[in-house]
Amino acid sequence: MGDITVFGNLNQVSIRLKRISEVVKNREALGFPVFQGDEELEYLFSDDDRLCPVCRRFGEERFFTGLEVQQTFSHISRVGEYKFAPNVHETHPELMGECRCRLILLHPAETFEERLYEEKLAVL
Ligand SMILES: [Zn+2]
Ligand SMILES: [Zn+2]
Repeated sequence: MGDITVFGNLNQVSIRLKRISEVVKNREALGFPVFQGDEELEYLFSDDDRLCPVCRRFGEERFFTGLEVQQTFSHISRVGEYKFAPNVHETHPELMGECRCRLILLHPAETFEERLYEEKLAVL
């Protein structure tokens, strides 16, 4: 990721800057969608006597892209800005108790900066 250089005569530059500013405003209003291929999430599990084999298996895999998360955890819910509960017990009715695992989105600022940069380039 680098700087964005806007070329053109004054009128063209002004139009391009306006488009960039609209991209930024739009993202400020909407935020970015989560669970895309460019995200990295870490799976955290409580390693205690209540840990089940399903949770352990995911915990040992440990890192997932956002896309893999989307495809793997169909009962995921958001529990914090960048923190999610995979709720893997929902797909395994034989498992006792609640899934206490968490998925944490790693380096969100860099990921979203990079996307914003790509979106700005795309409107030039
Ligand atoms: Zn479990
Ligand atoms: Zn779990």
